[in-house]
Amino acid sequence: LERELQKYRDLPAETTDGFRMQLKGNVEFPEEIPSLKGHGGEGVGLYRTEILFFNCPVPPDEETQYNAYATMVRAMAPHPVTIRTLDVGGDKFVADLNLADELNPALGVRAIRLSLRRPDIFTVQLRAILRASALGKVRMFFPMISGVAEIRTVKALLEEAKAELRREGTAFDEAIEIGIMIEIPSAVIIADLLAREVDFFSVGTNDLIQYSLAIDRTNEHLSDLYEPLHPAVLRSLKMVVDAAHAAGIDACICGEMAGEPEFLPILLGLGFDELSMNAISIPRVKKILRRCNKAEAEQLVARALTFSTAQEVLSFLQSEIAAHY
Ligand code: PEP
Ligand code: MG
Repeated sequence: LERELQKYRDLPAETTDGFRMQLKGNVEFPEEIPSLKGHGGEGVGLYRTEILFFNCPVPPDEETQYNAYATMVRAMAPHPVTIRTLDVGGDKFVADLNLADELNPALGVRAIRLSLRRPDIFTVQLRAILRASALGKVRMFFPMISGVAEIRTVKALLEEAKAELRREGTAFDEAIEIGIMIEIPSAVIIADLLAREVDFFSVGTNDLIQYSLAIDRTNEHLSDLYEPLHPAVLRSLKMVVDAAHAAGIDACICGEMAGEPEFLPILLGLGFDELSMNAISIPRVKKILRRCNKAEAEQLVARALTFSTAQEVLSFLQSEIAAHY
């Protein structure tokens, strides 16, 4: 089976009607890059940098971070690396950074909220990422954005970091693209406003499902209610893609939904430009993609959006997949 999937490595991620989808990898360590390339990944769509902050008594300094990002960028070249700034809090706890004992950690000082409260730490990371952008194609994005004011504050800090690097004569990519995770319902509802502020969206379906359905993503007693095909989730995904494309920017998914072959026809039909997943999922997703027709997938989505429950959507999807793929 593995060998059969390997043959997909060098085939283009393209539908029968010629639509090219970007299939990328979610990674934490540069050691994962050979496997990502071996599975046909055309870049890193989500580099989770929080891994650098776990198990250390103090946040890593600029050189340590720069070296990590540089290693990743060089390993992935000539393909792009999409680096996400620190996303701790909620279910990702770093003893030295998180505020102790929040009653609702998932709704607490996490991700970009923490970075904006600790500009000392955030600026070090921005500088390290910018410096790494001199070495290859780098995109930068920010987790848990809930509104326009937040991303504008982020951009102001980023501009300060760039100005400082210019003054020092330190190289970075002046055209570096920035994006945001769409993983909070407010960001979905104002996706049109957010789309004017950035170069791309990346949907974090793990958190978007959690927050949209009010289902703790780590609570096993509620796992039956954690439904990626819930009509509210599907409508949210549609709003995000439509807002992105209306503004002329790309819409990506880097949550677990992207790596489920079963969901591929839906994500294709909704119009996503890029899917980022665990390396081992890429061949299976590509296999289905290469049998899909984008125009047909769009019709499938139109039908899928008419159903009232996740179970109805799933049954419909399974019968379609059995019949056509
Ligand atoms: C997500 O929320 O879908 C996501 C990709 O981010 P994380 O799982 O790291 O929260
Ligand atoms: Mg998330």
